[in-house]
Parts: sequence; structure tokens; C-alpha cells
Amino acid sequence: MNHYPWYEVLSEYHRNHLSKSSERCAIVFDIDGTLIDPRVMQLVVLKAYDQVNETSWFNDKELNDLTIYEIYIRQQLMEWAIPVAEIDPICEFYQQNHWSEQIVKDTAALYPELSGLMRQLFESSRTDVFFCTGRPEFMRKLTIENLHKILSSYRDQITNYNLHMNSRDWEYVVQEKRRSLEQLISVHNVIAFVDNEPSNLNGLTFLPMSCLLVHADTTYKANQAMPDRCLQISNYINYPPFVDALR
Ligand SMILES: [Mg+2]
Repeated sequence: MNHYPWYEVLSEYHRNHLSKSSERCAIVFDIDGTLIDPRVMQLVVLKAYDQVNETSWFNDKELNDLTIYEIYIRQQLMEWAIPVAEIDPICEFYQQNHWSEQIVKDTAALYPELSGLMRQLFESSRTDVFFCTGRPEFMRKLTIENLHKILSSYRDQITNYNLHMNSRDWEYVVQEKRRSLEQLISVHNVIAFVDNEPSNLNGLTFLPMSCLLVHADTTYKANQAMPDRCLQISNYINYPPFVDALR
């Protein structure tokens, strides 16, 4: 009973909310590492390195071989026992191409296991879906394109209105998410916020307890504290709003 994936728990929570309340509700998602699988971009860049340099370091690598958050590429290469002399040029190529506009456009992919939850939310006439990303404002157009690609059946429901970008710089992601959520809860009945970075969830503990904080259990930056009230695979079953909702 303790090992349901987060998206199944959220699906149940949402269904339950709809059955018990006639109010509209909203659910807010982070994008990278929550909806978009960043490992696709990583793998494409690494395989491109092989192609450009006529090497074969990554021939046999697949998505599930990528076990470390994207910025720790050096650590990942060491874990794969890539020879030390190769690591610097690979990292340099990776830094140059990773997050380039074309690569971001070409590699955006939804975690396949989320398609059922997305269908449930977008097909519900009483539910609004919002996106709150740490990506800076200059990436807005590209981000809308990414969302239209990964959620192509619901593209009509995804406009600038649904998308909250980071209006400052990368170092202000937590503050910016806080600002977006303050704004969203002033207008909408936000019942859940989902993010893969514990630091973002930690910055949002001001949200009312009726808003479920959900940890998308993918890869994320190391050494971050998880807020106590956060829904994780390990503790969700004891999370009071969820237990109450199921009663
Ligand atoms: Mg993220």
C-alpha cells in the first residue's frame, strides 16, 4: 500500500475532489523533470557526441541508464566508467549542446506513465491545469511549443494564460514559483502542486493544507530537504488530506 506512484495518488485525489465538491479546481505542474523527461535530451546529446566524434561510448545506453540529475553529467560518466581522458571533451560538448534551442524543441517528451493522468485532468470540465516553470521568460514561446508537443491532444487548452514562467533569473526559481502560486491561489482553487525539486516544494509550504504538495519522484538536484507535509511515495499514505479525502 505504500508504493503507489505519485501520479496514481494524484489521480485518485483529483477524482475524489470532483466527486465531493462542485467547485472548479486547479492543479499546477512544474515542467522539466515533472512532465518532460530530461533524460531524453541528455541521451540525444551524448549520442550526438558519439556521432560527431566517431566514437561509441553511448551506443548501448538507454534512458534508464541515466540515473543522476542532468547537471551531474561528469559523475554519470564516471559511474559508467568512461575513460578519464574522454570525460572533459564529452562534458564540454554536453554543456554546449544541452539546452540549446533546437535540442529543447526536438527532445521534449512526456513521461509516458503520465498520459492517463493528463487525459483525466484535461478532459475534466471542472479542472484547470497550470504550468509553473523555472525556465526564464525568454523561453516562453519555446515552452508553449514543448507543451503543445507533449500534450498535443489538449493544445487548445494550453495558452500563455496557463503558463507561469520565471520572470527573473535561474537563481530565483523558488521565489518566482512562490510569486506565481500566490497569484494562482488568489483566483483559483488550487488542490495540488507538483514538482520534482524538493527545494521548490519547500518554498511553497505557505500554501493552505488543502493544496497537496506532490513530489514527482524523478531525478533532482542533490542535498535538498523535503517538506514534512509533502506527498512522497514513502509517506503519502499518512498524509492527512489524502487520508481524509479517501474516507
Ligand atoms: Mg523541475
